[in-house]
Amino acid sequence: MKLKKGDTVFITAGKDNGREGKIVAVLPKEGKVIVEGINKYKKHIKPRGEGQTGSIQERERPISVASVAFMCPKCKQASRIGYKNNRDGKKIRICRKCEENLI
Ligand SMILES: [Zn+2]
Repeated sequence: MKLKKGDTVFITAGKDNGREGKIVAVLPKEGKVIVEGINKYKKHIKPRGEGQTGSIQERERPISVASVAFMCPKCKQASRIGYKNNRDGKKIRICRKCEENLI
């Protein structure tokens, strides 16, 4: 999984196609990410006791990484993530377009 929490992605499929959001969680086993404000659904909360009313909460459903494109925060373009080794021989993430280091 190249994407990390905090990355900005562009949605390329589904009902939120064309929208942008920040990754709030990564699910590597499922190959999915949860993106802030994307793929929302309404969850109905049942009343817990007498006199209480139920409520509706909006939650985000995970979305497949195949449906998102990485947006580089440096060059502001849809890009891909690459890797290179820094001086200490550590693997770091870079933007393949502008080749800037990513956190
Ligand atoms: Zn870039």
